[in-house]
Amino acid sequence: MAIRRVLVTGGAGFIGSAVVRHMIAQGYEIINVDKLTYSGNLDCVRSVEQSPGYRFHQADIADRQAMAAILEQDQPDAIMHLAAETHVDRSIDRPQEFIDTNIVGTFTLLDAALSYWRSLDGERHSNFRFHHISTDEVFGSLALQDPAFTEQSRYEPSSPYSASKAAADHLARAWHVTFGLPVILTNSSNNYGAFHFPEKLIPLTILNAIEGKPLPIYGNGENVRDWLYVEDHARALELALTRGRIGESYNVGGGAERSNLAVVELICDILDKRRPIEGGRSYRELISFVPDRPGHDLRYALDSSKVETELGWKPLESFESGLEKTVDWFLDNESWWRPIREQKYGGERLGIGG
Ligand code: NAD
Repeated sequence: MAIRRVLVTGGAGFIGSAVVRHMIAQGYEIINVDKLTYSGNLDCVRSVEQSPGYRFHQADIADRQAMAAILEQDQPDAIMHLAAETHVDRSIDRPQEFIDTNIVGTFTLLDAALSYWRSLDGERHSNFRFHHISTDEVFGSLALQDPAFTEQSRYEPSSPYSASKAAADHLARAWHVTFGLPVILTNSSNNYGAFHFPEKLIPLTILNAIEGKPLPIYGNGENVRDWLYVEDHARALELALTRGRIGESYNVGGGAERSNLAVVELICDILDKRRPIEGGRSYRELISFVPDRPGHDLRYALDSSKVETELGWKPLESFESGLEKTVDWFLDNESWWRPIREQKYGGERLGIGG
């Protein structure tokens, strides 16, 4: 295996931890670098932390010295960069952290990676990859009848979050074009699955429903997202890292476009079967519409034909099967989410963004 030891940033977060668990299962050594912000939680990687070749560093990607020291000490064959501030609503309240981590942090990591890559010899130099993980939100919003975004779609971000991710994507491309750093990019649609921080639409809805609280939906619930099961994403990321072409980007979508209202209604229907409310009422009665957030993109959808034809990837879960697994996971793992709901985030704000 040309790539054996992978440095993952943001590996204590939702997608990063799925990547860490997937890559360990595939036999890679993992160096997990995470600042442990409000959304980072080492419980997400508890199942693999005793694996040989797994190690963790609590560090900020915007700390140049720390990044250089970790690269020098741990000698990874590749970097998968997922660390980011990720919640659109928070980016509207406090954009500064998004600039610091998503833009300055990505720059700092690219710069440290470039120095490190230049220090490598022979095959270690030619096999090295910097994989930058991004979002479909950089492309902006689609009308309901528009074709899905391709890798050629123009960047038109709407929120401070998506603008900061767009900036990071441009930096990653520039470090390839200008300095030759072997960069690969992926842009994925909205993920869902186990260990999803409960500020985003799907986990928030599941937990509010379990607790009998209102299920808030922005506007009239017509906003459409393309949903990707997180484990399908982790497989796509491994393929892009190991088989993707340098300098290319790959769109990874779930092929499951659903309106927010349809998502919430399906969660209610699954819970009606799994944990019926006494008296035969439906969880759908908890749905409540709230004023829309500013700049709310109407629709995201990704054309995944490039990753499918070039890398042979396809999602294994349908939205219905993935959502059932996700609801079951939250029902079975109260010990994971209960402390987060009580200490870090009580579900008082609505979350829909990437
Ligand atoms: P998350 O918020 O669950 O996790 C982010 C992780 O990054 C956390 O563990 C956090 O502690 C860490 N982090 C934040 N700032 C850091 C810093 N300065 N230094 C080091 N670590 C830091 O996010 P997620 O949903 O798992 O998203 C991961 C990546 O995937 C992000 O780059 C995001 O833009 C991208 N993405 C997410 C989605 C989605 O639906 N969640 C979709 C497409 C792309």
